[in-house]
Amino acid sequence: MLGLMMEMPLLVSSLIRHAAANHAEAEIVSRTVEGPIHRYTYADAHLRAQQMANALTGLGIKPGDRIGTIAWNGYRHYEVWFGTSGMGAVCHTMNPRLHPDQMAYLLNHAEDRYVFVDLTFLPLIEQVAPHVPGLEGVVVMTDRAHMPDTTLANAFCYEELLDGQSESFDWPVFDENTASSLCYTSGTTGHPKGVLYSHRATILHSYAIAMPSMLCLSDAETVLPVVPMFHVNAWGIPYAATMTGAKQVMPGPRLDGESLWALMDAEGVTFSAGVPTIWHGLLGYMGENNKRLDTMQRMIVGGSAAPRSMIELLANEYGIEARHGWGMTEMSPVGAVNTLKPHMRDWPADDRMNVLAKQGRPPFGVEMMIEGDDGTAQPHDGTAHGELKVRGPWVCRAYFGDEDSGAHRDGWFGTGDVATVDADGYMQIVDRKKDMIKSGGEWISSIDLEDFAMSHPDVAQAAVIGVAHPKWDERPLLLVTAAAGRTPDREDVLEFLAAKVAKWWVPDHVLVVDAFPIGGTGKVLKTELRETYSGYTLPELR
Ligand code: ADP
Repeated sequence: MLGLMMEMPLLVSSLIRHAAANHAEAEIVSRTVEGPIHRYTYADAHLRAQQMANALTGLGIKPGDRIGTIAWNGYRHYEVWFGTSGMGAVCHTMNPRLHPDQMAYLLNHAEDRYVFVDLTFLPLIEQVAPHVPGLEGVVVMTDRAHMPDTTLANAFCYEELLDGQSESFDWPVFDENTASSLCYTSGTTGHPKGVLYSHRATILHSYAIAMPSMLCLSDAETVLPVVPMFHVNAWGIPYAATMTGAKQVMPGPRLDGESLWALMDAEGVTFSAGVPTIWHGLLGYMGENNKRLDTMQRMIVGGSAAPRSMIELLANEYGIEARHGWGMTEMSPVGAVNTLKPHMRDWPADDRMNVLAKQGRPPFGVEMMIEGDDGTAQPHDGTAHGELKVRGPWVCRAYFGDEDSGAHRDGWFGTGDVATVDADGYMQIVDRKKDMIKSGGEWISSIDLEDFAMSHPDVAQAAVIGVAHPKWDERPLLLVTAAAGRTPDREDVLEFLAAKVAKWWVPDHVLVVDAFPIGGTGKVLKTELRETYSGYTLPELR
């Protein structure tokens, strides 16, 4: 017997319709590429998203067509998102820091008909467009006054495209399983893989991440996603913020510590999210300039392992709750966020931190399984580790244009991460499979070593890679950058680590480097480090 409830598909357009109807006055504030701060409301955004849908229709865009974006977080990007998905087309956000060849590959693979670019990325698309025969036009996201000369054959000015379009668009109603947006993985191995999100998955993910024990979003919050809209749809935050009517603050191109602090301070931001590299920059600026963020309550630190020292500093020095989060492009992306269970709140500080340093617990909607080397499910005892497998309504079931990927098997998606889950349900990433170091047949977790190294006062950032060793196959090499005004001493750092980890885990050598290679989403590029040090001979072997 079927229930007798209305069958209303879950559609992205309903988010902005809801916000305009119920949170009309709530603001979306953007730092623009042109310079000034732009502010308007959900009511305004909805009108312009409808103009965008009309403009796209005028360009001949049909449901299912792909529209690319190469843009920072800002109000025009937000309008393109909702205009595109709302009309039934697919918004394909692209990481501007990709190599131009890779960018051309993605535009061709996705068969984008048009691409929207911020002024910053005009030179990039001018270089790339000639290699994308199917691309019909480029929309430069600016007004007439700032529209530059361009070599592009078919370039439009964003504001001119919108100008004169009707502010009313009848958002179509269609199957909620229709594709709404497309993101590619960073493709550290081989070509990037496309993850095609559906309207249904996007809405369910928004409900889930808005919950109190996840990101805790509501109309009481002022939300600043530092994580870019091209990095897994800013972790879904612009959708979930719209669902709840939160005020949104978009940082545009300026993601350095000083600019972020100034915007957060001026707008009274209460919640933010980004990768550890970003928070290093912000905390560095605040520490050196004696700044505080008194309105900030919560920050999500994710995308790569949050150093325990960072979680502690945020809590103890600044009174900001740092919630460790874990996810993947393939998971829309949120898979786990860390908050304490009620019975843990009175625990001694160190015990609480032991829990909070883990990657967190899954929301309703994500199931986890740890698969051992023998293919069996491992116990959730906090010790047994294996590949983390996941499933749920916002986990991808196949890659776009590559339906037979080996990652999907028996209804589970293999994350490529090695993890444990404890009896309370807290998942901890041991390492990415490909980053683990195999020494004498035993595994060493690079993430753990990095975390300990970053708690040394002289160390800012740390990365551990395996280098060849004739006896042990691989041994860990620790690379560090110096904390401001400090000079890490190799012996001192190694002694510090020796007090914290098993003897055979202690790295064989420490190198102090000026900076790490950072990938398009702000993560340390281990692949590049491994290449750089591929022929490295440890001093003891010279
Ligand atoms: P990529 O990093 O490959 O470009 P994603 O942004 O989808 O693509 O990253 C997903 C991967 O990032 C995860 O599989 C995991 O290895 C890593 N990751 C994400 N969050 C965390 C975290 N909190 N701790 C450790 N690793 C993380």
